[in-house]
Amino acid sequence: MALRITDECINCDVCEPQCPNEAISMGPDYYIIDPFRCTECVGHYGEPQCQVVCPVECIEIDPDCQEDQPTLLAKYQSLTKAEANH
Ligand code: SF4
Ligand code: SF4
Repeated sequence: MALRITDECINCDVCEPQCPNEAISMGPDYYIIDPFRCTECVGHYGEPQCQVVCPVECIEIDPDCQEDQPTLLAKYQSLTKAEANH
């Protein structure tokens, strides 16, 4: 599953540099997560780093982006390959 940031985000900037996939960026009002880049940190860490650092716990699983572990791992591998080709 990809994660999403709710409107409780206080734009503290803490999560953005923690994301290994560069999936987090500033949106129109608060930070947003690109579901095509978020692997739930699978492939990099044992737990979602943005959730770990968020001081207001406003990052949750996106019910519209439900993916199982093999799918997340495949996404990680695809992203890593894309980076290597840059
Ligand atoms: Fe980035 Fe991991 Fe958070 Fe997804 S769960 S947005 S990959 S830090
Ligand atoms: Fe928003 Fe939480 Fe990220 Fe801070 S760490 S910018 S509150 S989502």
